[in-house]
Amino acid sequence: MFRMPDGPCCYVDVDDTLIKWSVPTGDEPENELVTVVCRDIKQTFAINKYNLEYLEKLAVRGHLIIVWSAAGAVWAEAVVKAFGIEHLVIATMSKPTYYVDDIRDANQFMGKHVFFDENGVRTGYAPKRDLNEK
Ligand SMILES: [Mg+2]
Repeated sequence: MFRMPDGPCCYVDVDDTLIKWSVPTGDEPENELVTVVCRDIKQTFAINKYNLEYLEKLAVRGHLIIVWSAAGAVWAEAVVKAFGIEHLVIATMSKPTYYVDDIRDANQFMGKHVFFDENGVRTGYAPKRDLNEK
């Protein structure tokens, strides 16, 4: 069994978070591109540089960074390697499809859930915790 170190921990999504799923047309000069090689297939994506910079900021401040994807750990690892940020990421994994807990509302035990738009503008957090709510 693998035991994660204790400490602040941040899970970062891949598709449409670190990379933009839309295929670049070449008409987006502001977009930097990254080529990801996964299972011997190369694909090019636009980088969401704001979220990548946010990941780097958290990592430098001591957060354990886990990059996860609904497409699986292999895909997440390929994207991490394409960015060359293996030194900042402690693990890649699939997004949970199931979890068991005595607390019904994940917002009560998960930390901040931060949302950014494609321009790096923070658009929200998960709903604030209401301790009186059943
Ligand atoms: Mg996504």
